[in-house]
Amino acid sequence: MSEERRRELAESLQEVRARLDAACRAAGRDPSEVELVAVTKTFPASDAALLSDLGLTEFAENREQEARGKVAEFAELRPDAAVRWRMVGQLQRNKARAVVRWADVVESVDSERLVDALQRATANALDAGDRDDPLDVLIQVNLDPRPERGGCPPEDVPALAEKIAVSSDLRLRGVMAVAPLYGDPEVAFATLSVISERVRRDHPEAGEVSAGMSGDLESAVAHGSTRVRVGTALLGGRRLTSP
Ligand SMILES: *Cc1c(COP(=O)(O)O)cnc(C)c1O
Repeated sequence: MSEERRRELAESLQEVRARLDAACRAAGRDPSEVELVAVTKTFPASDAALLSDLGLTEFAENREQEARGKVAEFAELRPDAAVRWRMVGQLQRNKARAVVRWADVVESVDSERLVDALQRATANALDAGDRDDPLDVLIQVNLDPRPERGGCPPEDVPALAEKIAVSSDLRLRGVMAVAPLYGDPEVAFATLSVISERVRRDHPEAGEVSAGMSGDLESAVAHGSTRVRVGTALLGGRRLTSP
């Protein structure tokens, strides 16, 4: 069973890498500029372990509660694997304390109140020895006119970036976005690229652009993504809700 799953994952990984290589070639970019992040939500820790055996080092989850157990289980399965876990889902402020216990990076930071909560939680976790490093964060930018999808409105990004930059235990690393459900991802990713440039003018260390998923990674790479978040194309179809 596990042998069969390993073969399956190895095959899909090869396909995703080929797509990434082709997208980079088409955009005149070096494939080493684009990191592949495996979105393991709804899939078991054993899949993350197999992907780690295949060389992946970056994993993402979108629900705090599901991730917490999975990260712990992964650490038991592969105690020596040096991997980083990223939170990419909408985050309630009351989950800040819990998320900083397992996440190396939070990509879905979209409000000043969440920044405050994460700063406080990270400081406490560092004090208590629950984590060793400051928290890397990305600003999630809302590229969808419908606000319920989460993310900071583009016009509020500079102020949020400044607030993160002066938080003692947070490190601003860049921006993240999800293309709108309807509409042209090209337009959204082009907008994100302009926003990223603006952020980097004030914060040169914040060069990451997390954009592109299974269905639109080519377009994201064409517009400067440095990090694609791929779930379905690597792991297969998800059930509608997380277990
Ligand atoms: C689920 C998810 C992904 C991966 O989506 P796929 O289409 O399965 O590749 C990427 N980013 C975020 C924020 C997600 O929630």
